[in-house]
Amino acid sequence: MEIKPLILVVEDDNPINKFIKVSLEAQNYKCIETNLGSNAISLVYSANPDIIILDLGLPDMDGIDVIKQIRENTKAKIIVVSARGRERDKVEALDMGADDYLTKPFSISELLARVRVGLRNMNTVNNNFFEEQSVFKLRDLEIDYEKRKVSVRGENIHLTPIEYKIIVLMSKYSGRVLTHKFIIKEIWGSYLENETQSLRVFMASIRRKIEKDPAQPEYIITEMGIGYRLVDE
Ligand code: CA
Repeated sequence: MEIKPLILVVEDDNPINKFIKVSLEAQNYKCIETNLGSNAISLVYSANPDIIILDLGLPDMDGIDVIKQIRENTKAKIIVVSARGRERDKVEALDMGADDYLTKPFSISELLARVRVGLRNMNTVNNNFFEEQSVFKLRDLEIDYEKRKVSVRGENIHLTPIEYKIIVLMSKYSGRVLTHKFIIKEIWGSYLENETQSLRVFMASIRRKIEKDPAQPEYIITEMGIGYRLVDE
């Protein structure tokens, strides 16, 4: 028997809620929904969803507080869908532990794409990604984790140890936006504000090595004021 992924939709705007639910069910996902943050928190425990689609402006509490309360206790991917489009709102949600962020109005195909990325990342991260998969392939980019080799269009490229750590981290979360803070913490172990600038320098260097045209990157996309995303296939 095939186990369908379970998706929890937390959204107080009923037409949007219904539209998301119908669209997800058409893709063969199971779906539960609620209008309230407090219900969402108990559903995370009782139903153990794989993906949580979360609005931030909820009648009983702020979605950010929902994230704070559930993040430590669930492996579910949290996709924030919100009308708050400011960079610092996105950064806050992502740094609190949201996995992705879509600004309203959004297209349903975009949401479905993010759901697929979430489910795929969940599988790869949970199943000991590095043991299961020794080579990462994305278009013309190849990372051989065992040999610690990176090639583009069949040519080996030389990355410094830090650059290599960054590209490996990004490959682990391909399709997902990673905040500056997250990347810096993962690579250097702690976060200092001014390291965002060094990160920018490292990214520029990686792009010069892997992108055909670093000014129009095909692989590493800048999410202005938020962070970076390695594209999805
Ligand atoms: Ca709302």
